[in-house]
Amino acid sequence: MRQFTLLVALAAPLAVHGHGLRRATPAAPQGAVLAASDDGSNPLLTDASLPPFAAIRPEHAKPAVEARLADGALRLAQMEARLAASLKESDKAVAYDDLVLPLEDMYDHVSAPWELVNHLKSVRDSPEYRSAVEALQPKVIAFWQNVSQSKPIYEALERLDKAEGASLPEARQRILQKELLDRKLGGVGLKGEDAAEFNQAQRHLSDLSTSFSNHLLDARNGWNMTVTDPAVVKGVPARTLAGAAAAAKKAGHADATAEKGPWVLTLDGPTLGPVITYAEDRALREKLLRASATLASSGKSDNMATVSQILEQRQLQASLLGYSDYAALSFASKMATKEGVHKLLDKLQATGRPAAQKEDKELEAFAQNLSKIGEIQPWDRSYYVEKLRRDRYGLDAEALRAYFTLPNVLQGLFSLSTRLFGVGFKEASAEESANSKWHADVMLYHVTRGGETIGHVLIDPYSRPAEKRAGAWLQPMISRKATANGVRLPSGAVVMNFPPPAADSPSLLSLGEVGTLFHEFGHGLQHVLTVQNETAVAGINGVEWDAVEVASQFMEYWVDFDKQTLLGMAKHYKTGEALPEAMYQQIVASREFRAGAMLLGQIYLGKVDLTLHEKFAKGEDTNAIEKGVADTVLIAKPLPEARPLCSFSHIFSGGYAAGYYSYQWSKVLSADAFSAFDEGGGLSDEAKARDIGQRLASTLLALGGGRAPAKVFRDFRGHDAGDPTALLRYSGLLPAGGK
Ligand code: ZN
Repeated sequence: MRQFTLLVALAAPLAVHGHGLRRATPAAPQGAVLAASDDGSNPLLTDASLPPFAAIRPEHAKPAVEARLADGALRLAQMEARLAASLKESDKAVAYDDLVLPLEDMYDHVSAPWELVNHLKSVRDSPEYRSAVEALQPKVIAFWQNVSQSKPIYEALERLDKAEGASLPEARQRILQKELLDRKLGGVGLKGEDAAEFNQAQRHLSDLSTSFSNHLLDARNGWNMTVTDPAVVKGVPARTLAGAAAAAKKAGHADATAEKGPWVLTLDGPTLGPVITYAEDRALREKLLRASATLASSGKSDNMATVSQILEQRQLQASLLGYSDYAALSFASKMATKEGVHKLLDKLQATGRPAAQKEDKELEAFAQNLSKIGEIQPWDRSYYVEKLRRDRYGLDAEALRAYFTLPNVLQGLFSLSTRLFGVGFKEASAEESANSKWHADVMLYHVTRGGETIGHVLIDPYSRPAEKRAGAWLQPMISRKATANGVRLPSGAVVMNFPPPAADSPSLLSLGEVGTLFHEFGHGLQHVLTVQNETAVAGINGVEWDAVEVASQFMEYWVDFDKQTLLGMAKHYKTGEALPEAMYQQIVASREFRAGAMLLGQIYLGKVDLTLHEKFAKGEDTNAIEKGVADTVLIAKPLPEARPLCSFSHIFSGGYAAGYYSYQWSKVLSADAFSAFDEGGGLSDEAKARDIGQRLASTLLALGGGRAPAKVFRDFRGHDAGDPTALLRYSGLLPAGGK
């Protein structure tokens, strides 16, 4: 998933998009004794690379997940008994094949239907799926707690490590070390009261994170305003008004139209962003911005207490495990070190702040000159930023959409992948794909190399607000795995929320949406182009959290900096005319627009996250901690009553706790990786691009979690990771040729 772009002033809430990179290891049981329900009647119990989504219904969830949990419990008991027996013989080592492989099979087998159900809940949400997930969740958590705290398994892993840890192949060493670390962090070493306290904190945390996202969802859904006066929505793009009129129709205004209203405005991203950016009515902007900045911070859906409780429970777990604080615990499984990240953020801040200061002065002067509004307020920022962008570069973001149709952009993405990595994409026929679709709009592509299929990519492109989660993500559906019947090919779903085609036009994407597609597709390439045969390290599995965004952010650079890629897919949807050179130049010129402010926004989020997880102690005021960071980092001050923590899903209900910095860390690596192509005019040298592309495919995209990311980077780039020069240069924050 993508980092979150703040609505300039940071007074707006942090958008929700859950993390799309869950560990997904659906199953191909190898000669396992199957539970009775694996008789083919439940489509969730599948071992296919392409699950039969068309046949899956919510009522399949409970029997499938419970059958696999029961089967898992049986396997666990059998395995523990077997291991306990061999552990009794004092020096008998347990072989990798008798320990780690059956464990991986079990992960695969038990998590398969659960992952598929969660995927369907994200893209075809319904009260039935929701209640199925709610009812199953505690059982699933309890099962994994038993697995991760199994003493015989832990002891056997330790013995394996001692006996032959150093002589295992590299990928297996990594798998073994990760197993040991995950179990330590899962509390396997705790005894008695400590263990009970740890487990209770774990359950508590899972409930707290669910209520955090429910509060946020409820607060967002609970707010709307109906506008009847066209003067109030003046300036708001027609596309947004069409959505607002559709919402009004749903609310009972049967004759609502985009042109005449009434319009129901909400705090959903597709409405909030355009209203705050384009509405000429200052009071309207203020109203929406205040509502969004204080989202989920009062009343029944107040997240303030939830935030403190989450931090408290995390600190408790960290101290039970012997860490000074939760951030230290988080860094135990990361590529970067805590000191390295602090240094990086400080360095970026030192470069970003003067730039942002300058940008802000320009914005103030521009706004005063244009409207004499007095002091510029948080609800004015996006509005004047857009006006300034138009004024300076002449770029009309809405008009640009006409040049980016989804089919052309997909074609551009496929040709780039072929050009760099030598892989092909073949669309499946309607009959062939019918079974694999969870919605009629889903598209299925087979990924080929040298004429051979190596994996599958499903694309679910359009927004369906009633049933699909907001945002964009890659769902790694099935992971590559060697089985008794050959290699099971990987498949993944690229899930987007693009505008659907209209009566008279195909789906038209903004430049930002084009970047998002490239981003998620980058995750997809890493998932599918893997050569690892053990699921634990195949594709993005087993990759350190802070290195997972490298492949995805790398792909974004091609949209922004490779003229051939951008122009190759930009054709006017009506006339077929290529993007005029003047418009292209506007895009290039505006690339670095307000780069300082953008960078500072990300540094602020990264530092807030780290500070909370390093410093928070029971009873402290999280709001004061957040405001303290804002004071030292940001130039544009947020609203005093803003409560951004209440909607910071990444760290309170996603997986980014003490890890939000990962976006900047990965960006340092991806910018450096892209510069390998760019150096010495390499972008126009096809042979060179292909050579470097092949090297990237055989390192970053192939090795997955099977090799330490620092080594993978060095294999590809020839030097160590961590130098932000390329990132700063591409952001326009370094003088040309500067170091
Ligand atoms: Zn991502």
